[in-house]
Amino acid sequence: MAKTAEVKIAILGRAGVGKSALVVRFLTKRFIWEYDPTLESTYRHQATIDDDLVTMELLDTAGQEDTIQREGHVRWADGFAIVYDITDKGSFDEVLPFKNLLDEIKKPKNVTFILVGNKADLDHCRQVSTEEGEKLATELACAFYECSACTGEGNISEAFYELCREVRRRKMVQ
Ligand code: GDP
Ligand code: MG
Repeated sequence: MAKTAEVKIAILGRAGVGKSALVVRFLTKRFIWEYDPTLESTYRHQATIDDDLVTMELLDTAGQEDTIQREGHVRWADGFAIVYDITDKGSFDEVLPFKNLLDEIKKPKNVTFILVGNKADLDHCRQVSTEEGEKLATELACAFYECSACTGEGNISEAFYELCREVRRRKMVQ
């Protein structure tokens, strides 16, 4: 019988980068234009990753939280997707502060996370090149995905699955 595992994932990133859109695209394969930006939701999703049945809990953060709440989110999660918007350089500049926050709260453990550049369909408005995203991911030693919640390009499911795999690999070696 397949083993079951639980993996808790929090989605972080500046407001408006498409965190909710990405989660909904992953769960429903659809794109919905508008969500309440203040809404914070947790979703449960079962997936078979490789040969294992995995229950994922996805926390779509809203960015309205105070420091205590944010700390709670970070403590709660096993892994993180830090999202920026390729058309918003400011959101890219916020990736490092998010990563530093994770290190600060999760220390002394290594933090498991992936970097996601969303809105790849808006290439004509691009402010962050693919190379810049790749370079940052190399510096931070994490996997990198450029994708679009709008068109579904960039294999969003694979990004979430890879994050789960990495969380489980690291749990096994601890
Ligand atoms: P959040 O604040 O990070 O949760 O961002 P939302 O998911 O609410 O998205 C913010 C805005 O960006 C909404 O108007 C979405 O329709 C839009 N959006 C999200 N993802 C994409 C995408 O991949 N491409 C485009 N063109 N727009 C997107
Ligand atoms: Mg949202």
